[in-house]
Amino acid sequence: MDQLNDYADNRLVRGCVYCVGMAETRDHVPSKCLLDSPYPTNLPVVGCCDACNQNFSKDEEYFVCLLESVLCGSTDPKKIRRPSVAKIMEKSPALRQRIENSRTEINGQFGFIPEVDRIDNVMLKLARGHAAFELSQCCRTEPDHFWCGPLPSLPQEAQDTFNSVHFQQMFGEVGSRNLQRLFVTQLTMPSGNGEQQNIGMLINDWIDVQDDQYRYIAIDDMGFLIIRIVISEYFACEVAWGV
Ligand SMILES: [Zn+2]
Repeated sequence: MDQLNDYADNRLVRGCVYCVGMAETRDHVPSKCLLDSPYPTNLPVVGCCDACNQNFSKDEEYFVCLLESVLCGSTDPKKIRRPSVAKIMEKSPALRQRIENSRTEINGQFGFIPEVDRIDNVMLKLARGHAAFELSQCCRTEPDHFWCGPLPSLPQEAQDTFNSVHFQQMFGEVGSRNLQRLFVTQLTMPSGNGEQQNIGMLINDWIDVQDDQYRYIAIDDMGFLIIRIVISEYFACEVAWGV
């Protein structure tokens, strides 16, 4: 990934970005368990306390194992696509069994009943990490909007909206990495008198952390912070805070 420095006011993001604790360690956003080796260089890191770091790691393991079980239709490590996740499931028979026990069949379709609280915990943590790193904003409060689920479960139009780039209306935090990533493009549009005119637009695009594995977009515009995430081109999440 591009290595960008945060030039925003350094009082904005201090301590653990997930709670009010001290920053005792650094946390990768996204966590490496969500990515495959070889890992991208310059992965984003944020300050994190030891307690948050440990609390999240069990839920993250559960999430990656569940997601792979869904995508592969099995909890058998031999059938799991990602080697690092197959290894977790081999080493943690209790976790594998827990996911296997949640297997269900509805109208002939196999699926798994997710532990929603644990998945929400992981997605909210990722969104808070991206907001801190990209937007220089600490979002420790509960979000005003939260959705996560399979991207293909959305109607096509909603998927297109979700996947679209963002046309920036107002600048976010001065000096933030997000502001440094914005780029200008020229759009040709008809004006009121029917003639074509060129309009400069500021584009905020998705950031591909790892192809087909993890991408996100972080938006700070018109008083709203929005984070969208797509994992394995299947599981998606949208979190927003009105500030
Ligand atoms: Zn913490």
